[in-house]
Amino acid sequence: MSPTLTKTSPTTWTPVPILMYHAVESAPRPPKYKHFYVLAKEFAGHMRMLRRTGYTAITFAALEAARKGEGPLPPKPVLLTFDDGYQNLRCNVHPLLRELGFPYTVFLVSERVGKTNDWVAAEGYEPTPLLTWEDILEMQEDGGVNFQSHTAAHPKMAELSEAEARREIMSAKDALEQRLGRPMTTLCYPYGSHNDMIRQLAREAGHTMAVTTDFGRARREDDPLRLPRISVYHVPPVSLTYGIGSLNFRWRLESRKDTRE
Ligand SMILES: [Zn+2]
Repeated sequence: MSPTLTKTSPTTWTPVPILMYHAVESAPRPPKYKHFYVLAKEFAGHMRMLRRTGYTAITFAALEAARKGEGPLPPKPVLLTFDDGYQNLRCNVHPLLRELGFPYTVFLVSERVGKTNDWVAAEGYEPTPLLTWEDILEMQEDGGVNFQSHTAAHPKMAELSEAEARREIMSAKDALEQRLGRPMTTLCYPYGSHNDMIRQLAREAGHTMAVTTDFGRARREDDPLRLPRISVYHVPPVSLTYGIGSLNFRWRLESRKDTRE
């Protein structure tokens, strides 16, 4: 058998869970915020489960290489992503993931760095502080984290004109590349909002991959500018052993559910 055939054999591809986190808080928030965060101890439990059950955290670069048949995937790959760039990642995520050796990706809103997620205010939520440029540069210098684009101002992209959408994508990419000195290759659509035009603009801007909020695991045949993820959010401990929260996480991780059309 030709080695070139085995190199790109679909049998070597495992559907990849791309986990979507937002904030990782030290203390519980009111119930209406439950989709916006997990607790730090809950997050640590998730990471311990990944390690115990044999998962290997990979980067988007490794996913892209595997998609092209240029590199193998580990037997149980997982991608860790954090939307918006909350300041609590610095204390509640970065040290733990460095210790575990798990790489991770944070999607930044370029015009809100050092400010808050003020786009939630219109829906009656209290804004939360975001990482500063200083935080971001120190974390990047320390290693293990890959910062990528979540647009300039976090709009619903599919509702914008072509000119507005292009500005959102290009302005974020330029600002982040200038500040961080790294290429922006992966885009995260705010609210998961995208369409044919938005994906085309993302591609033209040089993004080779983009993530949505559709639920599912990334398959080899997926459009790389439309990768689904698995949302993870706060599940209150309802038993003395904190069993339900961890069972819910495991169900999400191993779920075959897929909400894409
Ligand atoms: Zn967001």
